[in-house]
Amino acid sequence: MPEVNPQSFDKTSGYTIPVWYRAVDTIGNYPVISEPLQVDVAVCGGGIAGLTTAYLLAKNGKSVALLEARELGSGESGRTTAHLMSAVDDRYCEIERKHGKDAARLVAESSCGAVSMIESIVKDNNIDCDFERLNGYLFPEPDKADDVIAREFTSAKEAGMKVEMSSVPFPQGAPKVQGIKFGDQGQFHINKYLKGLADACTKLGVKIFEKSQATLPPLEDEQGPYVIAHGNRVSAKKIVVCINYYWLIFKMEPWRTYAVASKIPKGSVEKNLYWNTEDPYVYARVQDGDDASSDYLIVGGEDHKVGAATNYAERYNNLIRWSKDKFPVPQEVVNKWSGQVTEPVDDLPFLGQKPGYKDVLMITGDSGTGMTNATIGAMICTDNIIGKENRWASLYDPSRMSHDITEFVKNGMEVAASYMSWATPGEISDIEDLKPGCGGVMRSGLSKYACYRDQNGKLHSSSAVCSHLDAMLMWNESEKSFDCPAHGSRFDPYGRAIMTPSCKELSPVDPETLKTKAN
Ligand SMILES: Cc1cc2nc3c(=O)[nH]c(=O)nc-3n(C[C@H](O)[C@H](O)[C@H](O)COP(=O)(O)OP(=O)(O)OC[C@H]3O[C@@H](n4cnc5c(N)ncnc54)[C@H](O)[C@@H]3O)c2cc1C
Repeated sequence: MPEVNPQSFDKTSGYTIPVWYRAVDTIGNYPVISEPLQVDVAVCGGGIAGLTTAYLLAKNGKSVALLEARELGSGESGRTTAHLMSAVDDRYCEIERKHGKDAARLVAESSCGAVSMIESIVKDNNIDCDFERLNGYLFPEPDKADDVIAREFTSAKEAGMKVEMSSVPFPQGAPKVQGIKFGDQGQFHINKYLKGLADACTKLGVKIFEKSQATLPPLEDEQGPYVIAHGNRVSAKKIVVCINYYWLIFKMEPWRTYAVASKIPKGSVEKNLYWNTEDPYVYARVQDGDDASSDYLIVGGEDHKVGAATNYAERYNNLIRWSKDKFPVPQEVVNKWSGQVTEPVDDLPFLGQKPGYKDVLMITGDSGTGMTNATIGAMICTDNIIGKENRWASLYDPSRMSHDITEFVKNGMEVAASYMSWATPGEISDIEDLKPGCGGVMRSGLSKYACYRDQNGKLHSSSAVCSHLDAMLMWNESEKSFDCPAHGSRFDPYGRAIMTPSCKELSPVDPETLKTKAN
């Protein structure tokens, strides 16, 4: 088992490694910020949202600095499955029910616009990232008749999507099924795309800094807004926060989601996007292999709210079983990984001006279609900053109120319930029981501690109280992290923040003081 060292999470926010890292292990090699800066726009976060925003702003003549806390792509962008879907996964019938037909039309228009924007960025900058246009198929499981297909077909068509009913082109031997065929979807290799996008940014003069965490929220004085990174003040006319989960804690829920990549014979599965009508849904796509004779079949799903499940092996096994059932071709599992998505309670991301802040903008609540939603966010924020009207801006306005207040209340109650673990026993009863490479939360008196024993046998411990809003953390054995069930912050085994909303490390505790204490 490879050791988790304090640098492991700089590359990607988990212990498991996504398939993308086979071809592109490092997206860039950018310096740590070492001097104060004054720019038009400071962008915080180096995932797809931050890099696309920086690129579009620089193309429009703005001077831009991009600050990334770890390495570019090390957040959830590098852990995606990279479907570029205008066939939104929350479904047009649900968007129509919650927001109305006009909103559904704007969602279709903006999502198609995002795929086209990615396509033109790829073309304009000759980015070799396996971008392809292809069809997407939404289908029901054979034994589960429901009316989703009929409702979604009608709503998607009315929203302006290119849809037709069709049989789903699974390989021979798979059960036959009818579904909705969506035209003009897309896919790419995320790490190749981000690498090309970062290069394009650099050519346009964007100053990119890695291992340069910005202090958030942005501060403001008489000279305007600013952040501090690595002790240096970065002053800007506008600041765009693209750190994935930001600020709107009652409007978003953190969900864990799983993916498996298997080697399959080249061409044995037709290249399309596939996803079913289950809730949560399971989905698949094919990525070119790294050799001439194979492809990768990437299957994902098994989502649950953060902290609601710990049966990681079973979740991967369920995906593998589904993959073999739907695609009966030889499969060799090569990568398994999980990640986190930020689900907005009303199914639309929050893109634009931060409520109450004139010069701060944000891209958050990207959901399971964060590749396209982040790109829409970059387009909206750029238009806002250059003073151009954007017809999608009010739909995605972060200050909007939900049409369905019950979702807000339900989320608030679930968050409150997650604080109950202050009163429950720990996951481990004695720090000495931890085996090398294992961790757990241990109770000692009224407090709980996040404990980890590294491969050399050395113990590490911190407070298990989340540094965001004091919820109690849980150990995630699959990703070797301490995760917050309330708002989704995550910490590496040594207590460093690796997933927002928290940007602050856990309070360290001397493990010696815990050795004699029990549950
Ligand atoms: C398993 C999985 C499958 C998915 N599949 C798809 C899919 O098929 N299609 C799709 O569209 N979407 C998919 N998604 C969702 C999509 O990957 C995300 O929504 C998207 O990558 C989010 O991009 P982002 O740039 O907003 O955030 P991130 O990529 O998480 O980037 C945020 C960055 O901000 C940095 N940061 C944090 N705090 C600070 C700070 N204070 N200062 C500076 N930097 C900071 C982080 O280190 C990180 O690099 C999937 C997600 C997962 C986990």
